Amino acid sequence: MHSNLVANFDSVVKRNPGETEFHQAVKEMFDTLSDVLERHPEFARLSVVERICEPERQIIFRVPWMDDSGKVHVNRGFRVEFNSVLGPYKGGLRFHPSVTLDTVKFLGFEQIFKNALTGLPIGGGKGGSDFDPKGRSDAEIMRFCQSFMTELYRHLGEYTDVPAGDIGVGAREIGYMFGQYKRITNRYEAGVFTGKGLEWGGARVRKEATGFGVAIFTNEMLKTKGDSLVGKRVIVSGSGNVALYAIKKVHQLGGVVVACSDSAGSVFDKDGLDLELLVQMKEVERLRLSDYSAKRGGLSEYHEGLNVWELAGVASAQVALPCATQNELHEKEAKLLVANGLIAVAEGANMPSTPDAIRVFQQAKILFAPGKAANAGGVATSALEMQQNASRQSWSYEETEKRLEEIMRGIHEACVTTAEEYGAPGDYILGANVAGFERVARAMLAMGVI
Ligand code: GLU
Repeated sequence: MHSNLVANFDSVVKRNPGETEFHQAVKEMFDTLSDVLERHPEFARLSVVERICEPERQIIFRVPWMDDSGKVHVNRGFRVEFNSVLGPYKGGLRFHPSVTLDTVKFLGFEQIFKNALTGLPIGGGKGGSDFDPKGRSDAEIMRFCQSFMTELYRHLGEYTDVPAGDIGVGAREIGYMFGQYKRITNRYEAGVFTGKGLEWGGARVRKEATGFGVAIFTNEMLKTKGDSLVGKRVIVSGSGNVALYAIKKVHQLGGVVVACSDSAGSVFDKDGLDLELLVQMKEVERLRLSDYSAKRGGLSEYHEGLNVWELAGVASAQVALPCATQNELHEKEAKLLVANGLIAVAEGANMPSTPDAIRVFQQAKILFAPGKAANAGGVATSALEMQQNASRQSWSYEETEKRLEEIMRGIHEACVTTAEEYGAPGDYILGANVAGFERVARAMLAMGVI
């Protein structure tokens, strides 16, 4: 590794003690940047890497709220405004009990380069809370969102910082937060949030965009080998927003998704999942996969407590799309997938494969698309939502989907050509990291020591 990167990694670890996910995300990036620093000595001379690793601003705040029984709870809210050199801070909010400053920093760091890779004018940020929405009533969710926004609103703005959803935050939560923002500021500033409802400033295809993009990217990778998703058996992890629409697009592109999961277990439908029923039960009725499986009767197997990747042995899948959460796919499961006919992986979640799992895929020469590239369709369509809000326009579904496809193909092309330029053909991790980093680094140099 280039000496500048070694020194910076040591300093990141020292300055951010115990933040292991953040260290992991930085390490993964640094592993691919040595040649960039060789080619651009000015990046090291002017401490670009050091500056990029330090967030521009980190906000931590108390979120008090009252549950339906009158009990008071105190959660912690975060927003890490990481880098605004390419545009306003942009990135989602995650509500999950596991959220710490570490989580938000790793996600914010990834977001900088993902957003740069889209080619659209968006900086990088991320936020959230350790609030657990599971089992909470609608009224409780609303009170939490209102309290969260009562502090966060002062840091937001369509030209400053524009949040969206992530795990635990969908259109319902964005509605409550946007409503509170509007009320406090007395401004109908539609572009301050993305992922809004279609009747009040939201963009068509935003809901589908992350998952659609993952499947489109996968198909593009397969095309480089003269292949496609047609007839491929696919395992998806998760059953949230990303997973559901990845499943939909895989089916549209001719593949068959045979398994998916939630936090309680996994389902295996050997002839393919029933997407319509899944969407109805997971997205509309907010039920569990065990309910879905029971309703499918003999067509579906439910495995309580099983990690979906362990189904690799029976699913005979050629494609794996991890769409649940970070570090969900480990070395052991990667080996099992490879031994059972895997040819491609695309990350719908952020950092779902552990470094050891990635090594297994790379050694086996599996096509591997990192989250920064594969799941960028979500945030890219958020940028399209911002464009529509700024011009007070609303594009058709077809127009927006066409743009999403073009953006995903553009990201794929950027990964492929950058990897070739750096003597690592087919290495999508290097391609994505370097293409994203160079764009951010060049802009930082142009703007002086900021
Ligand atoms: N949370 C999503 C991501 O990880 C979307 C962010 C956004 O649309 O701002 O990229």
